[in-house]
Amino acid sequence: MPEYPETFSRGRTAQVVLVSQVGGQKAALIGFPMYRRNSEAADRMRERRRIEDAAPRLAEEVPLLKTLRLTLSFRRGDVRIGDASYVRVVVVPTAPALFTVPCSDPNCRDGGHPITTAMLKALRSGVAEFSGEEPCQGSAGTSGGPCGCTLRYKAEATYQKT
Ligand SMILES: [Zn+2]
Repeated sequence: MPEYPETFSRGRTAQVVLVSQVGGQKAALIGFPMYRRNSEAADRMRERRRIEDAAPRLAEEVPLLKTLRLTLSFRRGDVRIGDASYVRVVVVPTAPALFTVPCSDPNCRDGGHPITTAMLKALRSGVAEFSGEEPCQGSAGTSGGPCGCTLRYKAEATYQKT
């Protein structure tokens, strides 16, 4: 999922300013519709950023870690969601020591796949390649039942030699 830096002006005009950085190009969209939806998304993003900023840095938690690459895919039951795997290259010097992968289902509420504990444990042990699965913690559908989406992740890490 792409990350957009967002700014919101809540002035008298209730104008929404969304600045998205796509491939280094800066685009500003200014408009009135979807104020509420955008506002909720921005609240979620602000909250996530606040948690990430408050978290310890990955470079402090795993000082020997040099590079980290994550391959993510999602499935529901035995059915794979989406046809591609996502590759996420973690910027080790600045990344927070926090790994919560958002749920891939847009209808999921309070979802996410928390893999921080498993990730840090493996990275601290200096494992070069590991993988795992983590179910979503959220609920989906009108019944509010469990989301049922499962994240499968594969991590490839390199470390400084001691
Ligand atoms: Zn979910």
